[in-house]
Amino acid sequence: MTVITNHMPTQELQALDAAHHMHPFSTQDALAKRGARVITRADGVWITDSDGNRIIDGMAGLWCVNVGYGRDRLADVASRQMKELPYYNTFFMTTHVPAIALSQKLAEVAPGDLNHVFYAGSGSEANDTNIRMVRTYWAQKGKPDKKVIISRKNAYHGSTMAGASLGGMSGMHAQGGLPIPDIHHIDQPNWWAEGGDMSPEEFGLERARQLEQAIHDLGEDRVAAFIAEPVQGAGGVIVAPDTYWPEIQRICDKYEILLIADEVICGFGRTGNWFGSQTLNIRPHIMTIAKGLSSGYQPIGGSIVCDEVAEVIGACEFNHGYTYAAHPVAAAVALENLNIIEEEGIIEHVRTDIGPYMKELWTGLMDHPLVGEAKIVGMMGSIALTPHKESRARFAAEAGTIGYITRERCFANNLVMRHVGDRMIISPPLVMTRDEADILIERARKSLDEAYRQIKDEGLL
Ligand code: PMP
Repeated sequence: MTVITNHMPTQELQALDAAHHMHPFSTQDALAKRGARVITRADGVWITDSDGNRIIDGMAGLWCVNVGYGRDRLADVASRQMKELPYYNTFFMTTHVPAIALSQKLAEVAPGDLNHVFYAGSGSEANDTNIRMVRTYWAQKGKPDKKVIISRKNAYHGSTMAGASLGGMSGMHAQGGLPIPDIHHIDQPNWWAEGGDMSPEEFGLERARQLEQAIHDLGEDRVAAFIAEPVQGAGGVIVAPDTYWPEIQRICDKYEILLIADEVICGFGRTGNWFGSQTLNIRPHIMTIAKGLSSGYQPIGGSIVCDEVAEVIGACEFNHGYTYAAHPVAAAVALENLNIIEEEGIIEHVRTDIGPYMKELWTGLMDHPLVGEAKIVGMMGSIALTPHKESRARFAAEAGTIGYITRERCFANNLVMRHVGDRMIISPPLVMTRDEADILIERARKSLDEAYRQIKDEGLL
């Protein structure tokens, strides 16, 4: 069998990849014909492909490489931990030092009385835990009928059966018999696409009050929890109008509905605080974490749980757990990652330096003829592409066509910027410098210009 290395010709690697590797969220046949881009190494905010292109990673991998690539400290900790204790579990009355230390640190940085961590291998798994945990919580409190979780259309909460059910992605629900029972979706607070004639403020209230309506319709005695991302990420970096979250908080408080903030993207500095809940002034009972927890250097996720929920769950045997929960290597790397975030002042960097700088540059793209809306919170941003800004019109072409064209131009210009339908999104490593932000925006603008010319030429405008 051939030994496969970074130094093989790209086409050979692509052929071998197509022969044996099934890609997530991809059409395999189309990908096989075209050949996947092969990434060989990375440093800081830069990734390098097998043809030697240096690409600026406007997505921090999948929103996760918060401290940037190439951190020797994380590699060294992993190596030390692998030699000392490569694996042990925390089932059956056992624990280990990385789990203890990481949990203590998470309790310290998490707001309020979110003091307890239940680990998972990923964000999806953590959200599965959350469903079982909130239902068990209510059952323990003598209310076993409180099972329904309310979520939002176009939310993303993972790819497992339960995670994808919590999510509100219609394309995912269409495959594999989803959603599972007792999950209910309300509309998303996406003013640009769905706000009609309402002001953003009116619309924010209207969308939040759908939660109250759903509680009435389903019955207060059946609703266990509401789950939402502080800023919807994979749905297109949708930033809710200012009126939205205070109203959601009021409703959760009034009806004693558990609030789950899915911080998988927003957590660990992305919005300029440790957690998006702090930026948006939300008081969740449970936070889902993953991604930036280890900056993607190791697969690890979890649920940070408040005192009250932990106490109720603590009184019963919670029959749930993953082999790799609190994996010692992942936990040690995550802890070192949090130390790096703290020691280097990365959250302050986002809040007071690169975040405001990016905001200026990003909103500056509003003068481009294709850009109708430019939103950014900390280091996660989106722009809405439109043929007509004032009316917030959609393109006549199938949704996503123009976004895809623009994404392709970004690739060609060595910038990773994703498209969600006809929205372009970024979520770069938090350690980005001002010079690198300038490069990102320069490439984004060039790509928008090229996309604009192309869609005019193809009669798509
Ligand atoms: N929740 C949110 C908000 C996410 O963005 C994601 C991943 N993009 C997940 C959950 C699922 O995490 P994972 O892919 O680690 O299972």
